[in-house]
Amino acid sequence: MEKKLPKVAYFCMEYGLDNSFKIYSGGLGILAGDHLKGAKDNNLPLVGIGLKWKQGYVEQKTDENGNLYDCYRQYKYDFLEDTGVKVKVRIRQDDVYCKVWKVDCFGNAPLYLLDTDIEENGQRWITGQLYGGFSEDRIAQEIVLGIGGVRALRALGHEVDVYHFNEGHAVLAGLELMREKIQQGLGFHEAWETTRKEVVFTTHTPIQAGNEQHSIETLFYMGANLNFTVDQMNQIGGVPFNMTVAALRLSRKANAVAALHNETANDMWKDVEGKSNIVGITNAVHRGTWVDERMMQDFQSPEDVWNSHMEIKKELINFVEGRKGIKLNPNALLIGFSRRAATYKRSNLIFRDEEKLEGLLEKGEVQIIFSGKAHPLDDGGKHIILDLIRMSKKYPQSVVFIENYDMEIGQILTRGCDVWLNNPRRPNEASGTSGMKAAMNGVLNCSILDGWWPEACQHGVNGWAIGDEVVLENTEEQDVRDAKALYDTLLNEVVPTYYSNPTKWRDMMLASINSTKDFFSVDRMVKEYYEVLYAPMEDTY
Ligand SMILES: *Cc1c(COP(=O)(O)O)cnc(C)c1O
Repeated sequence: MEKKLPKVAYFCMEYGLDNSFKIYSGGLGILAGDHLKGAKDNNLPLVGIGLKWKQGYVEQKTDENGNLYDCYRQYKYDFLEDTGVKVKVRIRQDDVYCKVWKVDCFGNAPLYLLDTDIEENGQRWITGQLYGGFSEDRIAQEIVLGIGGVRALRALGHEVDVYHFNEGHAVLAGLELMREKIQQGLGFHEAWETTRKEVVFTTHTPIQAGNEQHSIETLFYMGANLNFTVDQMNQIGGVPFNMTVAALRLSRKANAVAALHNETANDMWKDVEGKSNIVGITNAVHRGTWVDERMMQDFQSPEDVWNSHMEIKKELINFVEGRKGIKLNPNALLIGFSRRAATYKRSNLIFRDEEKLEGLLEKGEVQIIFSGKAHPLDDGGKHIILDLIRMSKKYPQSVVFIENYDMEIGQILTRGCDVWLNNPRRPNEASGTSGMKAAMNGVLNCSILDGWWPEACQHGVNGWAIGDEVVLENTEEQDVRDAKALYDTLLNEVVPTYYSNPTKWRDMMLASINSTKDFFSVDRMVKEYYEVLYAPMEDTY
């Protein structure tokens, strides 16, 4: 490339880099981890900023009576490098020191993690539990990530051209960038305009409640406003202070994470005055992490795909036997469904009209493996998990629930199942990267046309669409309609193809791999970020 690439500082609350490194929760972290890996593989200048979570995200298990319980463990990592740098932030009325660790396995794309669990601090718990607190606890974490993150970059001597806030958690970094400029003599509005020129933002969730907001009083009490006045805070993030709105107003450009999500996000935020333009950059996955090596070869025939798949499917079946003591049948259809148990994802939709499936489950002709975690405070999500566990007891040979969903389970399931099911309440799934992992492994997607799937789906060729694109006002009616469409696709297309048309099935597996492996690879994604989001813009705003 002839032009010098902009140097990027990428801020995110969580990073899914490896299953043993418990500083992630779900899709957002996996995306961030894959983004760093993509930057490394493509030799792009990017540093990550995150938090060193002592306990990570919740572990969620079941006891012998089938009750769910949450627990936390303490982790120690010996591969972290001490940078010797400590930065200070003010939280409530206290100085809080943040030690900066470096994860160096990414060469040109190192990750720096801030850690408050050091002797100097009274408030050592801030970097304790990922998504463990809300309100004041969450704000404290966001002060460390955003304000501490910018100070860490300064102390480390990193030159930065673009600050990328991956989700609104990091938005306080924007206030810190403004504060620096005001200290150098700029006025409030000049500082804002100058800051905007160096900030970009990725918005993720189309669920209103997922877009965090805080009362301005609480932000003041926590010291998150730096020295900005109530009126200035209001101008940036509104009242209450919405982290997404603030990020949209503090950035020169923003993006959504799929084409459909781009429409949804533009509609959702259309009334925000002074917001940056939102464009779509579709998510992708790091093939080296998610695709089995046996599925990366240059396949000569659909038979070869099938043979490799059967090896991998048997490995999954052994894994399930090891964890659950249940021996699934390698010659019967195996459906996978694993994701966060958020209510809009409707993990138990397939059991809505149970009689439709009863016979197939009893005969073992349809087998389903579920996995998922609910947020510790999400009773709706926990209710769904308990329902899945109940079904696994009712059909012990055909329905399996694997507790404590993590990257390892995600990897094994997206490689070894025959079908990857996804039935979110449209259009709430921003992207849904697990389906991409499956597709590249020749695991056929059977999914509602939400998130990434409308961009990839060729119905009956590389997977299946469930239903159409109709969105009803009434969610109950929508669920009924979508469940019916799910049974139609499953019973009239997926099951008969699997059992009666193996040739077509194998062709579809090859088509699934070939139609997704380039576009949904993180190599395409990081290049698009550099071209569309990070490249310098003209001074037109
Ligand atoms: C890929 C992955 C996700 C994200 O998948 P979705 O399709 O967005 O639900 C979440 N958690 C884990 C462990 C993953 O591997």
